[in-house]
Amino acid sequence: MMLKARLLASVVAVLALALSSCKSPEETPPPEPAMSGDTFPTSRGDLIVHPVNHATFLMNWAGKTIYVDPVGGTAPFQGLPAPDVILVTDIHGDHLNADTLTAIVRPETVIVAPQAVRDTLPEALHGATRVLANGGTLNVADISIEAIPMYNLTAERLQYHPKGRGNGYVVTFGDKRVYIAGDTEDIPEMRALRDIDIAFVPMNLPFTMTVEQAADAVREFRPKVVYPYHSRGSDVNEFTRLVGTDVGVEVRVGDWY
Ligand code: ZN
Repeated sequence: MMLKARLLASVVAVLALALSSCKSPEETPPPEPAMSGDTFPTSRGDLIVHPVNHATFLMNWAGKTIYVDPVGGTAPFQGLPAPDVILVTDIHGDHLNADTLTAIVRPETVIVAPQAVRDTLPEALHGATRVLANGGTLNVADISIEAIPMYNLTAERLQYHPKGRGNGYVVTFGDKRVYIAGDTEDIPEMRALRDIDIAFVPMNLPFTMTVEQAADAVREFRPKVVYPYHSRGSDVNEFTRLVGTDVGVEVRVGDWY
C-alpha cells in the first residue's frame, strides 16, 4: 500500500510538472507596459503626458491611453501601451500617417479625426474612425473631446491650414481640461479658451506662428501649464521668457526633439 501511495504521489508530481511546463508564455498576457512622463493629478487619478516627437505624444488616464498624431511607424511606440483613442488633427505627414495608424490600431481603438483626414484613410480604418468637425463634441472611453478650429491667419500662410479642415481638441479628463492646439496661429478661438489646465501650443514658421504670437495668445487664455510643441527651429527659451511669470502660466519644455 505504502509503495502504491508513493508511486501515485510521484505520478501526480510528474504530471503537475509536465502540465506547468506545457504552459506557453502566451497564455499569460504580459503586464501592460508602463508609461513615463509628467504626471498631473485629476479627480480620477493621474494624467501622464508622454512626449514622443514634434507633434506626436501620448497621454494616459484612468487606464486609457490616448495617442495624439501618431506618425513614424511602430518604432516610436514600442514598449508603450496600445491606443484606446487616437486623435488626429490634420492631413499633413507630421500629423497623419496611414501606415502607422494601420499598424498600431487595435480592434477596440477609436480614431477621432476631421473629415479631411478620414477621406485619406484606407477603407480598413473607416470603421474605427469617428468624424468630428470644428465645434463638435464626442464622448469616448469616459473622455469628452471637443474639436476646436485650427488655421492660419497670416496671408502668406493661409495655404497651409485653411479654416475648417483640421481640428484642435479640448479633452476633458475628470476635472482637468487639456487643449491640443494643432497647427494654428493665435486665432480668436484659442484666445477665448478658459479653464485650460494643460495646453500644447505650436510655434514654427512658416506653418504655424512665431514665439511672439504664441506667447501673446498664451498670456491671454492663461492655461495653468503650457507645453511648446511642434516647435522645430524655434527658440522655446524665448517663448518661456515672453510668457513670463506674472500671469500664472507655467511653461514646460518637454522632450520632443
Ligand atoms: Zn505640422
